Amino acid sequence: MRTVGTFEQARELSVGSVGLVPTMGYLHEGHLSLIEAARASSDTVVVSVFVNPLQFDQAQDLDAYPRSTDRDADLARSAGADVLFLPDDAAMFSTPPRTTVDVSCVSEAMEGVHRPGHFVGVATVVGKLFAGLQPDAAFFGRKDAQQLAVVTTLVSDLSFPIAVVGLPIVRESDGLALSSRNVRIPDRDRRSAAALSRAIFAAADRFEEGERSARELVATARNSLDHDMTEGVEYIQVANGDDAGIVEDVTVASFLAIAARIGGVRLIDNVFLDPDTGGADRGVLLGKPSILYGGG
Ligand code: AMP
Repeated sequence: MRTVGTFEQARELSVGSVGLVPTMGYLHEGHLSLIEAARASSDTVVVSVFVNPLQFDQAQDLDAYPRSTDRDADLARSAGADVLFLPDDAAMFSTPPRTTVDVSCVSEAMEGVHRPGHFVGVATVVGKLFAGLQPDAAFFGRKDAQQLAVVTTLVSDLSFPIAVVGLPIVRESDGLALSSRNVRIPDRDRRSAAALSRAIFAAADRFEEGERSARELVATARNSLDHDMTEGVEYIQVANGDDAGIVEDVTVASFLAIAARIGGVRLIDNVFLDPDTGGADRGVLLGKPSILYGGG
């Protein structure tokens, strides 16, 4: 694996079909599942690590975001990456950015409401990565379901010849969705963090029993949370999987999403709901402690 900082260097190393895995680093098994999927279907696997300041709405969250380039390089290499792309801010945009990308419609609800400007930051940088690295396929996690809808719409609307592949959420053994931010959750709040996934799984169970009303599914998730946790919840909503618009009944592929602040850390999670099969996709559970905590 080679580590590079410019688009030109990355393109020179890209032979045959190129699979791109965009990340903000501090890699965990969720990221590794994307790299492994890219490895299985691409000649060259490019992993980008860029803590994108444009997508942070709070300076303190940006400062506290965990970073470790050496650790990321070891993990990306062992998962099968060929190129580790580590651009600096100047390689990605001018300050302030001259050109931005706003996938406005898909960004209106949920994260768009609670993190103003977040998706403009995401779409601007993802668009730049797509243009500069020219991948054939790009791999994203369903953990960020609204982001996946933003990226799919961006690719379609701007006619990027790129296949966008969405992959299941990887979870810690207690159900908590893997996130680089999990290393910042205080021990005393760990049980509350895991309760978020139990809440959306309870809604998934009801969906699989036949409930299709978004209001009922949201109520099920909310009622399964302890009273003292509900004040940290920013939203629980059901949205269309394609355009992230809020739905009243699950008649098309949708996702039930939750966002909450636990122990000073903002966490998001979701389950996919498929009315055609009647099934919910809860993702996959790790059987052992995550590499985030120094194991494995
Ligand atoms: P991030 O580094 O958090 O910006 O995430 C980079 C990519 O990894 C995005 O496509 C995320 O959706 C994906 N990702 C993050 N966490 C998970 C997870 N627990 N399971 C699967 N994919 C994930």
